[in-house]
Amino acid sequence: MFENKERTDIAELGEFGLIKHLTEGFKIRHESSIKGVGDDAAVLNFKDKEVLISTDLLLEGIHFDLAYVPLMHLGFKAVQVNLSDIYAMNGIATQITVSIGISSKFPLEAVEEIYKGIDLACNKFNIDLIGGDTSTSKQGLVISVTSIGYAEKKDVVYRNGAQEGDLLCVSGDLGGAYVGLQILEREKQIFLENPNIQPDLEGKDYIIERQLKPEGRRDIVDLLAQMEIVPTSMIDVSDGLASEIMHICQQSEKGCTIYEEKIPIDPMTYETARELGLDPTVCALNGGEDYELLFTIKQDDYTKLKNDVDISIIGHITDKNSGCKMISKSSVVHELKAQGWNAFKL
Ligand code: ADP
Ligand code: MG
Repeated sequence: MFENKERTDIAELGEFGLIKHLTEGFKIRHESSIKGVGDDAAVLNFKDKEVLISTDLLLEGIHFDLAYVPLMHLGFKAVQVNLSDIYAMNGIATQITVSIGISSKFPLEAVEEIYKGIDLACNKFNIDLIGGDTSTSKQGLVISVTSIGYAEKKDVVYRNGAQEGDLLCVSGDLGGAYVGLQILEREKQIFLENPNIQPDLEGKDYIIERQLKPEGRRDIVDLLAQMEIVPTSMIDVSDGLASEIMHICQQSEKGCTIYEEKIPIDPMTYETARELGLDPTVCALNGGEDYELLFTIKQDDYTKLKNDVDISIIGHITDKNSGCKMISKSSVVHELKAQGWNAFKL
């Protein structure tokens, strides 16, 4: 996917030259960032706030495939998936560190593309890049992002706070990123068999973007604050709805009932899943990488968000012994199973 003709050998710059080159365009925006890139450690000050920290590790061949992921998108996505974890705590993300392992065959221009994506994400989500680490890698590209954020103590939302009777809500729509990935995989296979055939992604923009350019739902965190709702529990949907629901229920020691007809699925996701012979509901339950927020609210808060088109109420929390259930469109009761994407089962 890297098509730029210019190829500058990274060795020409050296490690320090490379770090300077990549990071000097980034500006610091937050008062809490006392010292960013350039010393042995960054220095932050959050005064009386709770500090939130989350890390992700992305490995070529495990988490991404450079055959169809443009490097700029990869940089953007690496930051986004990480910010999503801060939002899932109902926090405000403010800083990231980015560590990269790059093979010597990677030209400078390729690394610049990744940092363009990182810069886009920082600008869009108001984030300071405050440090990282840089190394050569013998096998494949490695990117690790750590994100840092904060929240008032009373606003931090954990996975374990769901109570019986709470409503289970999810933002946006689900399954799109997974179905988008299936389309990209299909086109990659066709290309490998016949490199003269151009990928046919026509009309699939939304789901391809859901896969390549996901955006953490900071807007939902803001919206909840505006509505004066502090969810009782929250998690981001990275591994599929079923798996995330079960995390909330297990950690809260509760059960739940959800309704298949209430699961939000975009029409393009629905139709494409059908075209590919997949069940759209299964794509939403087990697909993953949607980076939407799944949360529970007290019934008293229902009137505050019932008219919001971007939030769907998909069910409610029950007692632990009732287990996690889905009522299908034909009123059949299914036991929910987490078959979420598992990086150790490849
Ligand atoms: P050290 O040898 O102490 O690990 P480095 O030379 O790796 O120091 O890093 C120097 C400075 O550059 C540090 O502030 C570090 O956080 C920052 N840095 C290193 N690599 C990156 C990177 N890939 N992205 C952003 N900042 C980086
Ligand atoms: Mg270092």
